[in-house]
Amino acid sequence: MKRFLTTWSRYPLIESEVEEPSSLVEAREYCQRKSHFIAYGCGRSYGDAPLGNFVLKTRRFRFFHHFDPQTGELTAEAGVTLEEIIKHFLPRGWFLPVTPGTKFVSLGGAVAADVHGKNHHVDGSFCNWVTGIWLLLPDGKEIFCSPEENTDWFRMTCGGMGLTGLITKVRLRLRPVQSSFIEETIIKCPNLEESLSIFEEYSSSPYSVAWLDCTARGKSFGRSLLMLGLHAAEGELFVSDKKTLSFPVDAPSFLLNPYTIKLFNDIYYSRIKREIVQQRVTYEDFFYPLDKINHWNRLYGKNGFLQYQFLIPKTEAQKAIREILFTIKEYDEAPFLAVLKLLGKGNDFPLSFPREGYTLALDFKLTPRVFSLFRILDEIVHYYGGRIYLAKDARLSRKYLESSYQNLEQFIRFRKEKDLLSRVRSQLSDRLSL
Ligand SMILES: Cc1cc2nc3c(=O)[nH]c(=O)nc-3n(C[C@H](O)[C@H](O)[C@H](O)COP(=O)(O)OP(=O)(O)OC[C@H]3O[C@@H](n4cnc5c(N)ncnc54)[C@H](O)[C@@H]3O)c2cc1C
Repeated sequence: MKRFLTTWSRYPLIESEVEEPSSLVEAREYCQRKSHFIAYGCGRSYGDAPLGNFVLKTRRFRFFHHFDPQTGELTAEAGVTLEEIIKHFLPRGWFLPVTPGTKFVSLGGAVAADVHGKNHHVDGSFCNWVTGIWLLLPDGKEIFCSPEENTDWFRMTCGGMGLTGLITKVRLRLRPVQSSFIEETIIKCPNLEESLSIFEEYSSSPYSVAWLDCTARGKSFGRSLLMLGLHAAEGELFVSDKKTLSFPVDAPSFLLNPYTIKLFNDIYYSRIKREIVQQRVTYEDFFYPLDKINHWNRLYGKNGFLQYQFLIPKTEAQKAIREILFTIKEYDEAPFLAVLKLLGKGNDFPLSFPREGYTLALDFKLTPRVFSLFRILDEIVHYYGGRIYLAKDARLSRKYLESSYQNLEQFIRFRKEKDLLSRVRSQLSDRLSL
């Protein structure tokens, strides 16, 4: 069936032929029949990675196959969401080893983007916890790959943005926890220098993330609220069932502008009254604050928004982030949301995003000006040896990719050798010649 399809940022909107097979037999027949295809999980990426002419939706692949209560190893179909894993396993004392800022993503999407969480500096990214992947190839053959078996397929599939085939099942290790609560510490960081140095000071904290105020000026430039967390040692094991709010319609386009964003930021920063606050919160409050508002992407109006998520090596972070925030200000733009994370050592999967350094994710209401602003930011990120996260990208040009993902050629050569170039294709792979 032909229809318009998009992702969480609502840009771009692509006319696609969408099918949703319900069994491996149907999926196999689909892959063989189509000239090419790309898998679509929950569409919570922000760009064009799961979009294309022929799209295979995976949400009907949602069975749990096996769980070993001794080791915490779980095998589940790729359409199972992180929310479903939490629902089944948190009451039994198991949590995700790595989670992005939303639980509404599929296992397949988490592997394909090799997602990272607030604990990358200690635990690495999602695929570091994956022990096996079942992959359906365009010729209908299903293979199993792991860190020990078919290792080249494994390396290319982890973070490979769906470009090696359809992930049908994933085996991963869950993390034992004693409680659904998180012991949270919030630290007020008065400027950018302090924000980065306090991040470093607490780099042994299991979880850390900062909300950055991009509108503060003068001596408050780059101030932030740093949130640290660790799983509580005791307490109830439960699944949070707090009611969610919903954004019923698209917000009017004037709602988000540099003045209202500054006002929001001032209020948000000032609501924390002391320099350090310690509190016990639920895992939902700590990991998924945005999930409480259904359709929060409507806040940006009917045209949607763009996220600019980049990574800068540690040594250059302060200079680069400063320059980026100044450039945004000079452009008279303001991101509504800015989230800073510390990343640890990366893995050797060619398209996996995380590497040692800092990553900043900035959300902008979509306007024509934002595209030209992003091109200037690309130059700055490139100059400081950084890179852009492909799961959040819809417009980067190939030249920046080449220099920032050093093993890109390896990935493309693999796709060529395995005859995947013309058979597994997305808008992203066409745009970036992957
Ligand atoms: C509020 C919010 C917060 C987020 N926070 C983070 C964060 O902290 N860290 C982070 O890393 N990411 C974050 N993300 C991004 C998100 O985690 C990733 O984009 C993830 O890939 C989305 O999974 P999905 O199931 O929605 O996949 P989709 O968006 O549908 O697809 C993403 C990619 O995965 C591929 N894919 C999906 N399923 C399969 C499959 N079965 N087989 C092969 N390929 C497949 C697609 O082809 C595509 O390339 C966030 C997103 C949102 C909306």
